[in-house]
Amino acid sequence: MQHRAEARIDLNALASNISFLKTKSGVDLLAVVKADAYGHGLVETGLAAEKSGADWLGVALLEEAITLRTHGVRIPILAWLVPPGSDFNLAAQHDIDIAVASLKALDEISKIANKPRIHIEIDTGMTRGGFLDQWQDLLKADFSQVEVIGLFSHFARADEPGQKQNLDQLEQFKKAINDLAAAGINPPIKHLSNSAATFADPVSTFDLVRTGISMYGLTPDIKTMGDSKSLSLKPVMQLRAKLHLVKDVPAGSAVGYGATAITSSPTKLGVVAMGYADGIPRIAQGAGVFIDGKRAPIIGRVSMDQFVVDLGAQSTAQSGDWVVVFGDGSHGEYTADDWGSASLSINYEIVTRIGPRVPRIYAPHVY
Ligand SMILES: *Cc1c(COP(=O)(O)O)cnc(C)c1O
Repeated sequence: MQHRAEARIDLNALASNISFLKTKSGVDLLAVVKADAYGHGLVETGLAAEKSGADWLGVALLEEAITLRTHGVRIPILAWLVPPGSDFNLAAQHDIDIAVASLKALDEISKIANKPRIHIEIDTGMTRGGFLDQWQDLLKADFSQVEVIGLFSHFARADEPGQKQNLDQLEQFKKAINDLAAAGINPPIKHLSNSAATFADPVSTFDLVRTGISMYGLTPDIKTMGDSKSLSLKPVMQLRAKLHLVKDVPAGSAVGYGATAITSSPTKLGVVAMGYADGIPRIAQGAGVFIDGKRAPIIGRVSMDQFVVDLGAQSTAQSGDWVVVFGDGSHGEYTADDWGSASLSINYEIVTRIGPRVPRIYAPHVY
């Protein structure tokens, strides 16, 4: 079937990013595939990451981990958002490593047979996940019924190289390693770095890096760390859509809900068959699409299923033509970073929120 929009996922670009990141860090790589692999498709991306040399997969939810296992993933999988009351038995049956961040979770998981595999999560300063107030009690806890595989934490500001908080978190992490050692617990796999730290903070590498955004070929922060290209990354997702309509309009035409834009001269407008239901942010202004070698900016508000672009009076675009919503930028098209800035957001949110109505096509990008 011909689609009106598609996200093209280049798994060769994914493989190239994985091998680049592995060489860069020099340690094992955990491919972060939570949230439908940042919108790239959980199962296809997970299997491709495994095939491309990822040593681990990481997800937030237990459901995500089980889906990966039932589709044939064999490498270790860590799930880090598995609250008390979850089906820890099911996790163990599927050989899934569970991040433990509270005494209650440790207590529940300790009741599972055959020593389930856990990673202790320590809060080193982000004040989100991980042990903080219960740390001293954890050091006195009974670990005899679990196998402690890992200790990990997460950076709050790794995309701001040189920030003092990064050093503080690293110091807290080292202290946690020592505390555990003094309690007789020596997790073989210690991990702290996300994508940004993998580039900016080699002293935090330890035994494993957990890379998400960079594996998808996107920069952790365009302002502080540069763009994909400068980081030697290849964007994996290209988003395309069809022009539903092309129409000539006179100057003074009010476009879209709220008439927030008025054409200043006669022009050709294109109606793009995607909207906020598909993950195109309603507030986006200053991004647009790419067609016939040039950019056509958004005009007016984004609607639920469609948005309008100004193609320019000379455009030869026709209804039914494909336009590139974002790509790697090498042809002059907008990027996920451009869409992030245009929406007061970041590339992470742009790719992750591409909705389920948009088919993922596992194929090279096209122009
Ligand atoms: C999402 C996540 C990552 C990946 O972060 P990126 O910035 O995308 O590399 C790593 N670790 C944890 C715990 C995460 O939640």
